[in-house]
Amino acid sequence: MRQKTLKTSISCTGISLHSGEKVSMNLCPAGIDHGIKFKRTDIAGGGSIIPARWDHVVDTRLNTTLGNDDGVTVSTVEHLMSALAGSNIDNALIEINGPEVPIMDGSAAPFMFLVECAGVVEQRSERRAIRIEKPIRVTDGDIFAEFIPDDGFVIDFAIDYSGTVIDRQEVSVPMAAGAFNNDVARARTFGFLSEVEQLRAAGLARGGSLDNAIVISGDEVMNEDGLRYDDEFVRHKVLDAVGDLYLAGAPIVGRFRGECSGHTLNNRLLRAMFADTEAWSVVPAKDLDISYATMPVAAEKVAMAATA
Ligand SMILES: [Zn+2]
Repeated sequence: MRQKTLKTSISCTGISLHSGEKVSMNLCPAGIDHGIKFKRTDIAGGGSIIPARWDHVVDTRLNTTLGNDDGVTVSTVEHLMSALAGSNIDNALIEINGPEVPIMDGSAAPFMFLVECAGVVEQRSERRAIRIEKPIRVTDGDIFAEFIPDDGFVIDFAIDYSGTVIDRQEVSVPMAAGAFNNDVARARTFGFLSEVEQLRAAGLARGGSLDNAIVISGDEVMNEDGLRYDDEFVRHKVLDAVGDLYLAGAPIVGRFRGECSGHTLNNRLLRAMFADTEAWSVVPAKDLDISYATMPVAAEKVAMAATA
């Protein structure tokens, strides 16, 4: 399996969830071993580059925020990172003219569509993966996140909102053969109306609306069209975890288990893993079932076969 980047640049414009500001974003191709990096085009000079890596995570309270040594940040990166993981994109430069990634419809699907429109190309270098070599767990009271060795990339997730319309939801998603596209990518972020009102009072969630989040009031989902999956809530947490874990800098070969985990524990887990050199190893991605088999990759293979 080879590294991949975008065939061409592609842009989008949208509203930021927290600031409510309109931002433009440009997904650009990048060279071998570049990884995923953000570039704040509204900031002059070299301090505008922010690597999309676990050790650049500076805030995880409401979303995952990345920052560099110059204090320049970009927030709410998790849904875009999830789409890039699901599209097998190893190398890309994400130009953005503001401090927060647009929320789009609250899922990863619009970003997947952008990548599909731009196209995906293979590069002349082997793709590497990070294989989990031993169990590693981080906890916070009753909640936890852990890695367990496994032949593939699997996400097990449980959330517990007992006493609300969400209740307890559990799902196990082996990330193979289109599972990300079909079972995860369209799941939207969610919030309770009472929380949204609190956030608004604090100057946050200004861009939040029924167009980019599932909003729950009492026992009801307020969105007119209802849910995209019966258990859309826990599937969105899977989407978040895929994005947060892609900040490892390579796909993971192993099983992730999250019990009410979130951005904070997801990042703590990566930090704990990288701190223990026996917990992981770098392996070639070939022969390992970590491919999400997305549409753009399939189309690319067809095109290559046609010209071969
Ligand atoms: Zn999310």
